[in-house]
Amino acid sequence: MTIGWHFDNTYAKLPKTFIEKIKPTPVHDPNLVILNKELAEDLNLDFSKIDNKDLAKLFSGNVLPGDTSTIAQAYAGHQFGHFTMLGDGRAVLLGEHLVNNTKRFDIQFKGSGRTSFSRNGDGRAVLGPMLREYIISEAIHALKIPTTRSLAVVSTGEKVIRENLLPGAVLTRVASSHIRVGTFQYIAAKQNLNYLITLVDYTIKRHYPEIQSSNNKALDLLNLVMEKQCQLVVDWMRVGFIHGVMNTDNMTLSGETIDYGPCAFMDHYDPKTVFSSIDKFGRYSFSNQPPITKWNLARLAECLIPLIDKNEDTAIKIATEIIDNFQNIYELKWLNMMRDKLGLFGEDKNDIKLINNLLNWMETNQADYTNTFCYLMNINSIKNEVYKDKNFIDWFKNWQKRILINGGSQENSLELMKKNNPIVIPRNHKVEEALEAANNNELKPMNNLLSILKKPYVKQGNIEDFQVPAPISGEKYQTFCGT
Ligand code: AMP
Ligand code: MG
Repeated sequence: MTIGWHFDNTYAKLPKTFIEKIKPTPVHDPNLVILNKELAEDLNLDFSKIDNKDLAKLFSGNVLPGDTSTIAQAYAGHQFGHFTMLGDGRAVLLGEHLVNNTKRFDIQFKGSGRTSFSRNGDGRAVLGPMLREYIISEAIHALKIPTTRSLAVVSTGEKVIRENLLPGAVLTRVASSHIRVGTFQYIAAKQNLNYLITLVDYTIKRHYPEIQSSNNKALDLLNLVMEKQCQLVVDWMRVGFIHGVMNTDNMTLSGETIDYGPCAFMDHYDPKTVFSSIDKFGRYSFSNQPPITKWNLARLAECLIPLIDKNEDTAIKIATEIIDNFQNIYELKWLNMMRDKLGLFGEDKNDIKLINNLLNWMETNQADYTNTFCYLMNINSIKNEVYKDKNFIDWFKNWQKRILINGGSQENSLELMKKNNPIVIPRNHKVEEALEAANNNELKPMNNLLSILKKPYVKQGNIEDFQVPAPISGEKYQTFCGT
């Protein structure tokens, strides 16, 4: 039976401090819930000759492929601002799978049992939240935003104790790596300079080989990660994605979105939107995501201080300058992203005003973020009275005038907008609907949702139901951490 695994496990060879060698804890009665065939193909993996029972054994960790060297990874993290030593408390890395001998992917089981990092947790995951990660991560990928992927979900046949008894599950996560800001924090806390050098070298070799022979690798790494994370958060702001738990352990060095817990998409535009039930003070609200990205990068910079310059004061000065520049990089990227969303070419001195006027109007009128841009592209079959508002009509006229400058035309403007404005996003009520059905072994709604979310920038027929936001009600939509 050849699946095509090609494991080469470099992380497992790092010093003991970085890892714990551990196997997944077998589960009672694994059953395959979903397998991502397209992703499997991209990974050069062929599961077509394996029946579902054996797939379930494989994706639960009950049967391990050869050449694996399973580990849990150590990391720390600032959770809502408080520093804690963490680590994979309910995940094991199966190994690094090589595609065409060049591309390297972490294959990780999430919900695979206790490890030495589990603290008081049971090491397990619940079916609903694992399917949620599957749906949203695949949607984010289709939106052309860097992210970890989801290869499979199996139910375990075991109940997991939360507020009540819930069905257990294991998610197979694919990532370009699981190195987090928190990984650096863990190693920095150990105060072993050699380990820190090892981690920097390892990260650079894996993600930024272009700076392997640089004179100041730590500094270059910081700059590159800042660039990547800045781009990532701009992408989130573009599509209205709210991560929900941007702790430093949930921020990757690769620049991929990771850890889909209480995340959700904003419907009506409100910069203060928070969905997570545990985010009482809105630390991770929609508009706080950029400053929090900067805050997390500052934590990464702190870890790198000993390598940036031998003189600590000098190192701090250099690192501070870099982090202080975040705002400039972000604002420029954000402005250009918003220009793209509005189909504006080149620059005009009134652009910021034009953009903010629209955002303010959306906020005041509780207009849907996604659908407003669809309305501007004139490709939304959903009619909404809100766009008859005089203030909006006035704004629209200014926008039309702006489109035509700098060589813009209605046609090329629309083309630009189509590439940047999704027509469909994973609406909260649709995701809930799909998950509820899946909990009752009815997978059709989830598969249907997934297939629509695969082409967010394409006008598909008969998807009105997926474009309508949930009615604005007194009851706020809440997401839960999903442990
Ligand atoms: P997360 O909220 O998923 O980002 O996880 C934060 C930390 O808590 C990580 O170290 C996880 O491994 C750990 N954790 C989350 N859920 C569990 C669980 N059920 N059992 C053990 N550890 C967990
Ligand atoms: Mg996490």
